[in-house]
Amino acid sequence: MKQEKMPSDISESKPHLSGRGNCCDDDECIPEAHEPDPLVIGGLSDAVYSMLEGIGEDPLREGLLKTPERVARSLRFLTRGYSQDPEELLKNAVFTESYDEMVLVKDIDIFSMCEHHMLPFFGKAHVAYIPDGKIVGLSKLARVVEVFARRLQVQERLTQQIRDAIQNVLHPKGVGVVIEARHMCMVMRGVEKLNSVTTTSAMSGQFITSQPTRSEFLRLIKP
Ligand SMILES: [Zn+2]
Repeated sequence: MKQEKMPSDISESKPHLSGRGNCCDDDECIPEAHEPDPLVIGGLSDAVYSMLEGIGEDPLREGLLKTPERVARSLRFLTRGYSQDPEELLKNAVFTESYDEMVLVKDIDIFSMCEHHMLPFFGKAHVAYIPDGKIVGLSKLARVVEVFARRLQVQERLTQQIRDAIQNVLHPKGVGVVIEARHMCMVMRGVEKLNSVTTTSAMSGQFITSQPTRSEFLRLIKP
C-alpha cells in the first residue's frame, strides 16, 4: 500500500525551508540538500509507512496520512551532511596569515543522530586550532561541525572527524575539539538518565604535547 504524493505535500515541506536557512546563507550549499530526489523520498516514505505498520499503527488514519513523506523529508534534512564535503568547504576559505595564537570557536550547537538507535544527540562543540601560516574563515569551523554532525554518528567519531578535517586542510600546529552532548537514546530508553552529559575530546599537535596549550584550551571552554 503506497500513498499518492499530493501537490499539497509541497506546502507541507515549507517549514523545513526556513530550517534550511542555516545552510542556504552559505555559498557552498549543495542543491541536493534542498531538492531531494523524488525517488529517494518515495523509497524512504515507503519505509516509514512500513515502520508505522510495524509499531501497530494504522498508516491510513487521518493524522498519519502525510507522515511517511514528512518523516522522509525530515530524515533527508537531518542527514544532509552526506552530500557535503567538509574538507572542500574548508579549502575554499583558507587565508595566509601570520597570527599564531590559539583560535577558538566555542559553544557551537550540534544536532546529530546516533547510528545505533537513530535517535538525536545534541549539545555543544568547542573547536580550537593554532595556525601555522594559514587561517580559515571562522564560520567554516562551525560549518565543518555541522556537516559531520548531520550524518549518523557516534560522538567519539564525530569529534575525531572534525579534528582530522581541520588538521588535513590547514596543517596547523595543533587542533583541539571537545563535544558535550546529551543522547536521547540514554534519556528516553535504556538507562533513562535524564541529565547525563557525554564529553569527548580529540586533540593533535601542541594540544597534546604542550600542557599550557591544553590547559588554556580547557580553561577557555569552561562554561
Ligand atoms: Zn544511541
